[in-house]
Amino acid sequence: MHKERIYRGIPASQGISIGKAYVYTRRQININTMALKDGEVEAEIEAINNSIQISLKELTKIHAISVEKIGEKNSKIFEAQIEILNDRIFLDGVIKRIKKEKKSAGFVFNDEIEKLAAILQKSGNDYMKERYADLMDVRNRVVRNMRREKLVSKVDESSIIFAHELTPADTILFSRRKVMGYATDTGGVTSHAAIISRALRVPAVVGMKTISKFVATGDNVVIDGTEGVIIVNPTEETIQIYREKISRIKHHEELLFEIVNKPCRTEDGKSVEITANIEFVEETDFIKNCGIGLYRTEHLYMEKGDFPSSAEQIQEYTAIALATYPKPVTIRTFDLGGDKILQDYHREDNPYLGWRGIRVSLDRVEMFREQLKALLISSAKKNIKIMLPMISSVDEVRRAKTILNEVKSGLDREGISYDKKIPLGIMLEVPSAFVLAEELAEEADFFSIGTNDLIQYILAVDRGNELISGMFQQFHPAVIRALKKIVEGGHSKGIKVSLCGEMASVPLAVPVLVGLEIDELSVLPSVFSEVKQTIRAMRAADAKALAGRILKMPTESEVRSEVERFFELKIKPKIL
Ligand code: PEP
Ligand code: MG
Repeated sequence: MHKERIYRGIPASQGISIGKAYVYTRRQININTMALKDGEVEAEIEAINNSIQISLKELTKIHAISVEKIGEKNSKIFEAQIEILNDRIFLDGVIKRIKKEKKSAGFVFNDEIEKLAAILQKSGNDYMKERYADLMDVRNRVVRNMRREKLVSKVDESSIIFAHELTPADTILFSRRKVMGYATDTGGVTSHAAIISRALRVPAVVGMKTISKFVATGDNVVIDGTEGVIIVNPTEETIQIYREKISRIKHHEELLFEIVNKPCRTEDGKSVEITANIEFVEETDFIKNCGIGLYRTEHLYMEKGDFPSSAEQIQEYTAIALATYPKPVTIRTFDLGGDKILQDYHREDNPYLGWRGIRVSLDRVEMFREQLKALLISSAKKNIKIMLPMISSVDEVRRAKTILNEVKSGLDREGISYDKKIPLGIMLEVPSAFVLAEELAEEADFFSIGTNDLIQYILAVDRGNELISGMFQQFHPAVIRALKKIVEGGHSKGIKVSLCGEMASVPLAVPVLVGLEIDELSVLPSVFSEVKQTIRAMRAADAKALAGRILKMPTESEVRSEVERFFELKIKPKIL
């Protein structure tokens, strides 16, 4: 019997799961390049045939689960992989070469796949190029199965993923498997991988330093994403304690569900709009009857490894607009860069200070035009708002508006209808933007504050770096005062100010945001009810007084204590 071990990290996505660990390593697969000895050829052929059968079985199973979870259209990747392994001509070619060249099956298979991949990469066809990554996946699966290594595709087990690092692309791919949790050595709470885990309602603990080295695939584990705890080889007693916790959480969620359709108003009658942050169309199932304050479009790029086609974008934006109708959906143009770009696309020393968000769009004007055109074509129901990320100057907004107007004129000439009054808003997440809030408010139809970046840039604290995650302070006086300046700037020109950063999803921060007179909070679907309950439990007048007090405070600890005191006294007694 193994001994129970407890590890602590940074809680990144709420919830508890009990399951088996899957340790994900992105290390290179090992290929035997030595020549085979005379007697080894037959065994090698048998090994690859076996491995192909195992791989086919796995892929067929993954495909079935994938269709059930995310539909036929999104499951094509697995069909393509199955096709390769069913391609007799291709496989016969591999076997012939093993016999003739007396090279290991892994070596020949890899070589043949590489050749195929090179052809696909050269072909001008987008669909073919996309298949490159699928080919690499197939190669890894077959080579690993030859060595009987455990694979990600052991989806019949409820796995909790352990990894040194997960990129957003990894997280998206894993989300399509039966994942019950994520634990990573690196990362902070606002890293994109952590945000995706929360959006998918999968518990996550990040910044665990070396956890991926101390857990083995198949270990029994408990992940507590609320407390930031991982327990390896839990005893029966521990499992029982966590089972009880899970049932208490379920009960709490049921109670919260009851308030979903009640008005979002403070006790003294101030309405605060509450919308959701969404990454995938499928998530709209969770948030019936509610608008979307932030729909990120980067995943379209990340899944494809390239800018999506116009048709793909129109399909996506129309689907989200229809799913949300009659409520509005704020669709943000690509915010690529930072941690949201495929790693091999390009490298920069300071990606967060680099080619990111609107900067990419204004440089790649054709891509930007295509996205704006797709957004306009999808706006027939008049419930789409367009939002520009990473605005740092008035000029950028003006240039974007000129391009938008040109795209509109083009559509007019083509006789294509769209929402002529489509609102164009901007993200307030760069310090220069809050300094220029008033001037920017002249140019924009609405503001949305991105605190994940705003805090990172104001405090010079990398949002994904766990070494300094304690310095990423939402209650830092400079942050509170920046929020105040943005709200004043927006309201002085009569435009609405929303907040779509993670800060809106933290119940403790909600009275501060209401007190600062932010009009709309866009939150993670998983905390939607909790935030609403917090708003309903407070008095706007009290929140405003709280904001007045903390705006004068010089330190984070003073602000935090004041906010905690307020929460304990004024909110907690009234909520569940
Ligand atoms: C933010 O910066 O707060 C934000 C909402 O955008 P993202 O997390 O996608 O950078
Ligand atoms: Mg941002």
